[in-house]
Amino acid sequence: MLAAPLLLLACSAKNSRQHPMEDVPTEPTTQVVKTAAEWRQQLTPEQYRILREGGTERAHGKVYEDFKQQGPGTYHCAACGTLLFSSAHKFDADCGWPSFYDPAKAQNVKLSKDYSLGSVRTEVTCAVCGGHLGHVFDGEGFNTPTDRRYCINGGALKFVPRDNP
Ligand SMILES: [Zn+2]
Repeated sequence: MLAAPLLLLACSAKNSRQHPMEDVPTEPTTQVVKTAAEWRQQLTPEQYRILREGGTERAHGKVYEDFKQQGPGTYHCAACGTLLFSSAHKFDADCGWPSFYDPAKAQNVKLSKDYSLGSVRTEVTCAVCGGHLGHVFDGEGFNTPTDRRYCINGGALKFVPRDNP
């Protein structure tokens, strides 16, 4: 059991020159399971409403304005730190929510059918903690390589800017 912690330390030390430790979330290596009370303690009320209750943030809010200004970097789950999206795949769909045409790591996002609101949509959740992120829409005609839009609540994401673009 000694090898794993040593490996993690080695990893962190290598990255710490470019990223202050507190800014880069530690990525979980196993499924993250917490009680509602634990999540409530860790998350802001808005994050809890989105991530744990499937809520949707107000369109064209401050989070979206911030998103449009952000430069190169990565987007992590605000609940568990898992890498979800990259600025390389973001585009402005002008829909009022952060949009990406691809996830940073396909295995980190989970897609499932959502039958709420009287229609079938595809819900996007964090594969590691199960947190609700948003929905995915296909074939909307955006000029992106996938013609697929991950429409994500900015409140569910933690942005980590890349220091050396
Ligand atoms: Zn997560």
